[in-house]
Amino acid sequence: MADTTLPVIEGALLKVAHDKGFATARDRLEVMSPQCGFGELGTCCRICYMGPCRIDPFGNGPKTGVCGLTPDAMVARNLLRDTVGGTASHVGHARHVLLTLRDALNGKAPYQVKGVSKVMALAKTFGVPTEGREVNDICRDLVNIALEDFGRQDELPNNWVSKRAPAAEQALWSDLGLMYSNPHNEIETAMHATSMGNDADPVSLMLRVLKMSLIDGWTGLTLCVDLQDILFGVPEIAVTEAAVGVLEENSVNLAAHGHNPVLSEKILEWAEKLEGEALAAGAERINVVGVCCTGNELSMRHGVKLAAHNSQTELILATGAVDAMVVDIQCIWPQLAQVAKCFDTAFITTDAMVRIPDARHIPFEPHHADESARQIVQAAIDAFRRRRGKPVDIPQHKSTAVAGLSVEAIIDLLSKLDAEDPLKPVIDNVANGNIFGFVGVVGCSSIKFRDNAMTEEMVKHLLRQNVLVLTTGCTAHICAQDGLMTSEATYRYCGDGLKAVLVVLGKAAGLDGPLPPVWHMGACVDNSRIVDLMVALAERLGVKVGQLPAVGSAPELVQEKAVSIGGSFLALGVSCHIAPAPRILGGPMVTKLLTEDLQELTGAVVRVELEPKGAADWMVAHIAGKRAALGI
Ligand code: SF4
Ligand code: SF4
Repeated sequence: MADTTLPVIEGALLKVAHDKGFATARDRLEVMSPQCGFGELGTCCRICYMGPCRIDPFGNGPKTGVCGLTPDAMVARNLLRDTVGGTASHVGHARHVLLTLRDALNGKAPYQVKGVSKVMALAKTFGVPTEGREVNDICRDLVNIALEDFGRQDELPNNWVSKRAPAAEQALWSDLGLMYSNPHNEIETAMHATSMGNDADPVSLMLRVLKMSLIDGWTGLTLCVDLQDILFGVPEIAVTEAAVGVLEENSVNLAAHGHNPVLSEKILEWAEKLEGEALAAGAERINVVGVCCTGNELSMRHGVKLAAHNSQTELILATGAVDAMVVDIQCIWPQLAQVAKCFDTAFITTDAMVRIPDARHIPFEPHHADESARQIVQAAIDAFRRRRGKPVDIPQHKSTAVAGLSVEAIIDLLSKLDAEDPLKPVIDNVANGNIFGFVGVVGCSSIKFRDNAMTEEMVKHLLRQNVLVLTTGCTAHICAQDGLMTSEATYRYCGDGLKAVLVVLGKAAGLDGPLPPVWHMGACVDNSRIVDLMVALAERLGVKVGQLPAVGSAPELVQEKAVSIGGSFLALGVSCHIAPAPRILGGPMVTKLLTEDLQELTGAVVRVELEPKGAADWMVAHIAGKRAALGI
């Protein structure tokens, strides 16, 4: 049984929506509940037109599809297609950033290289000469190395995985046949292999799942984040605020929603340029606020305030205070256009791939970024003019939050304690148990898990047991809104050991109190930062990543992207907690493979726990096992 209730902020937002007579996602879910059991078990196949085939693995119904496909092969095919969806999303995002950087270097897109330190670090990793060279020239070499990965047909290992991933794990991936070359070719192969009449071997299909997840991890996430840091700068520790209370009645509220900072960075720039026009329209200022992962990107690099996670997006529109919501890609609910219509909110789509009925479409592509961003900010000011003087309903809830904990920012902070060996203070505190372990809490916010405050309650159970929490994506919004990224949270929730460590780190960071116990490491693509930190710790200790006292958790899974990210953790040997259950339970062999047998291959397992305490307890027990194996 859940022992917690709906978070106060969501309760307040739902009240606003219901008072105004809006149906929300919860209402729509209720109408369609119970949801399809075949779908939940993964035993529904619509891949060919002899189907849809529904297998009843536990009752007296059909035991195979019309073509004879077994339940295990069916769930494995479906899982692979989920993983392809997630990987394609991140790889598409990464390629967009790569082409923007290429065009910026050639003077065709109005962006400059801001992350010089990242350029130099990557040049070292990839063996690009730097002596006496301009930064942009070094960057061009890095761009060409990345472009080679997207164009190659020679089956040689992908540059980014072979240079950025740890060597010991690469050897294992090679042995398992998981190393990849061109990500696009692999996505094509996976779709081909799962089409009617191809791969029907569950083990072969599950290895493909791991391979696709690796592509997500190293091309979709790592390459993307590396290049975003080059273009927009490496995040530094910054203090911000989170939750709906960051909206301002008398300002132009412009919400940036989606994932790609190529758009949101320009929006921020033009909001500053057009501030005078907003003042002339009677506004106090232009208040750019962040939603979902693009909010995390802006918050990490500029301290922009975080207004809402994914499942709150329609709710903040119901406040009537959002003048414009501009979106790019991924996790954009079509319903937003309908709610926006009721308030004369400018709901603006920008990407050719994301067209939504009743949205205003202002095409945004990097070559003409300035003109498009100007139009978008102008549309927000115009919407404010129309809204001015009308009543709004902004629940006054918000929390302070520390963000910007890139690996570089963490190392910089730790260097103040030990300049020669920055990771030593962390390792010493892991060894003595002050830091019992690490959990990367990542992924989405799900209305299926908001009533029991799954993420925030699970995190609090972890903190009490001295587990340091690293977070990204919408779970970062949830933690920020709940005050878990504050010094007070360290005093309130942490066990004594973790508290002592964070007090010392807070002093080193020059904060007024301890460092918060939940570290905001960015957007979903920034899960590569969590991996980079784990890799650095493992290398410093001389062990494999999978041996660290660390676990991944996606406590409110929604998106295919979270599936592929989770798979990339598993390939590294990092076990994962997940809720709800992935759609594999109709395949007993696949279920056993992921929950038990994978241990023999990569050292990782998957665990499903639907309640916060049960999830935290399993993770702590798993970490205890890792500590025992390390002899600490
Ligand atoms: S591929 Fe096989 S299981 Fe899938 S829909 Fe076609 S016949 Fe049914
Ligand atoms: S955390 Fe999930 S819902 Fe939020 S932006 Fe990322 S993928 Fe989308």
